Amino acid sequence: MTHAPPPGPRRVWSGRLGLLLAGLAVGALTFLVALQVRAGSGGGPTTLSPSDETVASAPEPEATTASPDPTVTETGPPPPLAGLTIAVDPGHNGGNGANPLTVNAPVPDGRGDTKACNTVGASTDTGYPEHAFTWDVSRRLAERLTELGAVVVLTRPDDAGVGPCVDARGRFPQENDADVLVSIHANGTEDRGAHGFFAIVSDPPVVDAQGEPSVALAHDLVGALTEAGFAPSSSVAADDGPIQRRADLATLNHAERPAVVLELAEMRNPEEAAVLESEEGRQRYADAIAAGLVAWAGTGEAGPTG
Ligand SMILES: [Zn+2]
Repeated sequence: MTHAPPPGPRRVWSGRLGLLLAGLAVGALTFLVALQVRAGSGGGPTTLSPSDETVASAPEPEATTASPDPTVTETGPPPPLAGLTIAVDPGHNGGNGANPLTVNAPVPDGRGDTKACNTVGASTDTGYPEHAFTWDVSRRLAERLTELGAVVVLTRPDDAGVGPCVDARGRFPQENDADVLVSIHANGTEDRGAHGFFAIVSDPPVVDAQGEPSVALAHDLVGALTEAGFAPSSSVAADDGPIQRRADLATLNHAERPAVVLELAEMRNPEEAAVLESEEGRQRYADAIAAGLVAWAGTGEAGPTG
């Protein structure tokens, strides 16, 4: 959606081409030679200093109109997510199913109790597993966020391991200097009629970042998913949209940065299963989440929250 303006040096060079033609027309051969020498020297990217501009526009009055627009800067505006580190958590893992002892080991739930390290996750009726879905969406999301200027850190490196446990996933943003945590999941409601996405925040908040900062993040993500054409959940509805408040998710309870779990679809709903089983569908989810993070960054909600 964001199209960067042409880089400054190229604009400068096209302006200089116009100058070259003007110079040819009036037979200003010495000027042409001098310009070529200067542009070819130095070995680095072509840049135009104020003194260059003065020299280039000097020979002919009409050349002034071909001068580079002085308001065009050498570098465009920074990309929308520049300066942010975003933690992306692909839910579950491909090796969880074969390692029940590890996965079922109790870990702190962030509220003084314990919770299983991790779970196997849901799947579609055709057998496409949630861990593969979350990994592929997260991979695509990381690529998009990087294009938008963010530094991205993932809680797991591939889809072949076990865990990490939910407490480690929750501590991950503060332990990796991330500004925000988005945990990617899909839901497995048995009712095939249930459909739609929803967001989850920790409630009541354990730390301040889990309160209003996380709700604001959830609003932006929900808004972007809705705008991208995904249906909000048919079963989860709060006054402010498909945002569920839960105390029992250790990933959210341990996070000391704005943190949201996204349940992107109901995996047992046939229509949504068809979307999430397609590469195109997973790219659409990733692009929508990235748009939500751009909205969040642009509203001033992003930033150190401790
Ligand atoms: Zn899940």
